[in-house]
Amino acid sequence: MEQDQSREDAWALETLAIRAGHHRTAEQEHSEPIFPTSSFVYASAAEAARKFKGEEPGNVYSRFTNPTVHTFERRLAAMEGGERCVATSSGMSAILSTALALLSAGDEIVASRSLFGSTVSLFDKYLGKLGITTRYVELSDLAAWEAAITPATKLLFAETPSNPLSEVVDIAALAEIAHRHGALLAIDNCFLTPALQKPIELGADLVIHSATKYLDGQGRAIGGAVVGRERELEELFGVVRTCGPCLSPFNAWVFTKGLETLNLRMRAHCDNAQALAEWLEAHPAVVRVHYSGLASHPQHVLARRQQQGCGAVLGFEVAGGREAAWSVIDATRLLSITGNLGDVKSTITHPATTTHGRLSDEQRAAAGIAEGLIRVAVGLEALDDIRADLACGLDALA
Ligand SMILES: *Cc1c(COP(=O)(O)O)cnc(C)c1O
Repeated sequence: MEQDQSREDAWALETLAIRAGHHRTAEQEHSEPIFPTSSFVYASAAEAARKFKGEEPGNVYSRFTNPTVHTFERRLAAMEGGERCVATSSGMSAILSTALALLSAGDEIVASRSLFGSTVSLFDKYLGKLGITTRYVELSDLAAWEAAITPATKLLFAETPSNPLSEVVDIAALAEIAHRHGALLAIDNCFLTPALQKPIELGADLVIHSATKYLDGQGRAIGGAVVGRERELEELFGVVRTCGPCLSPFNAWVFTKGLETLNLRMRAHCDNAQALAEWLEAHPAVVRVHYSGLASHPQHVLARRQQQGCGAVLGFEVAGGREAAWSVIDATRLLSITGNLGDVKSTITHPATTTHGRLSDEQRAAAGIAEGLIRVAVGLEALDDIRADLACGLDALA
């Protein structure tokens, strides 16, 4: 029994996060149920035949559809303002499924240079094998995006703000460029989530998520999702249904419950990150802070206009290169030394030797990843404790 969906259109994001897509069974349980089942049974052979043919709606097999996964998809689609969502087994399989759904041999992608490392490998190594080529451009340089487009370009792909320098691109302007050239725009919205940025409202065609990050928010499960229009999503659903990178019901349930607190968590993440960035910027041992919430950030005005908050991933540079950065990291006690982000637990990492370690020295320099750069994904511990831990780390340089 689904609740009255006609009201959903009028609901605010906070309400959608808690109520949208709720599927209640005949037991009338209050909280969202989990359906850990591979398949479904029918009252008769005739019903089975109708459901297999798609003449009657209903679940057949959990690689195709599952009620728990459906609740997560409905809720995220409503929050992103998209017609439909398809959930996937990971953020990477969300990107792979998007490519398989939309692109063929000979097609081209134009993408921002500062992308998640595995996304670059997927584009270059694996889509490359299928005859799909990717050109990379500077994220915030709209003229470079337009210049890289050819008649074969079908997809523009960006992460904004970028990791770890918090660069921002004007999504509405980029969507206009994409559409003028008959291409689609996909935005990886992992860093801000619909709580802080709604790319579809700004003109993007597809929103991609690693649900592993803030949608869960507590580091418990791997999953992903794509949100967009019915037309593209029906094709994407076909890819997931046939090729099999479907989301498990248990993980879908974890993410659904994660969405309920997303708005509160993201605001708290932003508050901690903003205060930490301001403190770091004033610290004598810090050379530079990269965070779009700071007035010193080159796209600060755009970020404030386009985003409802600046997220919780920030970079800061210390003098003395790799050795200095490592000594700061090693002197912290509270922060977890890990490349992960999107967790209530704060994390710290040295991008040049971890998340961006696969790049050549020239590529790293072009991407602005200095040897003295440290990335912090700010969690929800008390600000004073996070600050004290970093102060302790920075004291190692004295
Ligand atoms: C983590 C991440 C991904 C990949 O997601 P997985 O769930 O790890 O497969 C894609 N894009 C961004 C921006 C990410 O941070």
